[in-house]
Amino acid sequence: MPASRFDLSRDDLAGLLEGEPRYRVEQVWTALYAHHLEPGEMTTLPKALRARLTEVMPCALSPVAESVSDDGDTVKWLWALADGASIETVLMHYPDRSTACVSTQAGCAMACGFCATGQAGFERNLSVGEIVEQVVRASRRAGEGPTPRRLSNVVFMGMGEPLANYDRVWAAIRRIHADLGLSARHLTVSTVGIVPGIRRMAAEDLPVNLAVSLHAANDVLRDELVPINRRYPLSELYAACEDHLRSKNRRLSFEWALIDGVNDRRTDAEELAAAARRLRAHVNLIPLNATPGWPTAGSPPERVEAFRDRLRSLGVNATVRANRGTEIDAACGQLRAEHQVTLTAPSRRPARAARAGRP
Ligand code: SAH
Repeated sequence: MPASRFDLSRDDLAGLLEGEPRYRVEQVWTALYAHHLEPGEMTTLPKALRARLTEVMPCALSPVAESVSDDGDTVKWLWALADGASIETVLMHYPDRSTACVSTQAGCAMACGFCATGQAGFERNLSVGEIVEQVVRASRRAGEGPTPRRLSNVVFMGMGEPLANYDRVWAAIRRIHADLGLSARHLTVSTVGIVPGIRRMAAEDLPVNLAVSLHAANDVLRDELVPINRRYPLSELYAACEDHLRSKNRRLSFEWALIDGVNDRRTDAEELAAAARRLRAHVNLIPLNATPGWPTAGSPPERVEAFRDRLRSLGVNATVRANRGTEIDAACGQLRAEHQVTLTAPSRRPARAARAGRP
């Protein structure tokens, strides 16, 4: 049985529906991808078929915790997977868009010291269906409630390194684009800087955005903050970014978590500005969230603003990213790390979550 019903191809689904009228395949596919329905809710199907599909088309994500903050504009889930691994998904509503932030791996092998997920180590890659299902769950939630919204954007910025699980992530992107109907221009892959992966992305046909978690623009500091830099140093990373920029003509962005006294100095801004100008990159600044394994504080607001203003005066397009969900420990891998969340909705499959040893 697949990990998730969203791991099934159309052919797999046709196999499950053998003996049924041919049109059922398209009917079920549309119910899953366009209407985000559970098999039990597919009322156009005969009851017995609904019951059978519920058995043979499992969902992969069991809610362990769900927390809502920012007046309902941020929803964060901690999910248990069938094997007990856990991952997070976040849905964020903005005035002009609704964005899902999805995980691509359970854990992460990149070992960035300041990142809660990196501190916990690598568990496994997610399957295509486990990635797609996060987007479907977020879409469904976005469409509920008194003011329904349409999920418009997906960022691969949850747990894990997307380019270290390239084939599955790219297959998920195709599904999200072709079957869930999101524009490729509204999808963003965020990477620590896996150069071969960036080059592969540059050669793909879909114009997906690239975000690079830079955090330092000299090799000495970056070797320390983002260990993969020792394998793919800045010169190679910038060359790969240029490749992507040239082939896709999509905006490149640099992510920069401002760490007090570490990468928020005048020289850091100057080094970053030089690279950002050359690659016409937009810079997203975010004050570091202190995590249990890296107690260094994020830069205080006045240093964040000064850093942003310095970048702007050097001709760089820079914004400070609002840090969503911090009051519920929902920022950057902290939900799983802390487990101290308020359950706002009962777990649909409590027995399974309990077996997985989660709260
Ligand atoms: N592995 C990918 C995607 C997941 S991390 C990547 O590194 O891009 C998503 C973003 O959150 C990255 O920019 C990462 O550097 C940042 N991040 C991780 N831990 C953080 C923390 N404690 N405070 C602020 N940003 C953090």
